Amino acid sequence: MNVAAILKSKGREVLTTTPDATLLDIAKLLGTRRIGCIVVTGIDGKVIGIVSERDIVREIARAGSQVLKEPVASCMTKSVVSCREADTIDRLMSEMTTHRFRHMPVVERGRLVGLVSIGDVVKMRIAEAEMEAAAMRDYIATG
Ligand code: AMP
Repeated sequence: MNVAAILKSKGREVLTTTPDATLLDIAKLLGTRRIGCIVVTGIDGKVIGIVSERDIVREIARAGSQVLKEPVASCMTKSVVSCREADTIDRLMSEMTTHRFRHMPVVERGRLVGLVSIGDVVKMRIAEAEMEAAAMRDYIATG
């Protein structure tokens, strides 16, 4: 199974924002959309950063709630690790574990085409394991 299979099942919609949006704007979006991170794009639509609920909580703990007026560019992670549609789910699990993050934008030819979360990866892994178990049961029953 690969990233393309996840996108086929969950869709390709990705919530993005511009670097001038405030942390309060981002917090509201995360809350209303019930998601954990937002991708930041430049005027050309290219990925220039990623901001997660953890970044916002860390900034508030560091500088107080007035930091919510600051632009997201001040606290986003700029070195974004992305994946491609052909990447395997094993590869994503390994990247997320190594870097200790839970989200990966999917980028093809410089264009953002989806976003995969650790929840999507786990869901797909469980479906895969269930399919393997069912195939094994069929094999044993008919053997
Ligand atoms: P998360 O676990 O995704 O909530 O993010 C934990 C930290 O990793 C935050 O500082 C995020 O900005 C950062 N982060 C999340 N996803 C990525 C990614 N794909 N590439 C680089 N940094 C990321």
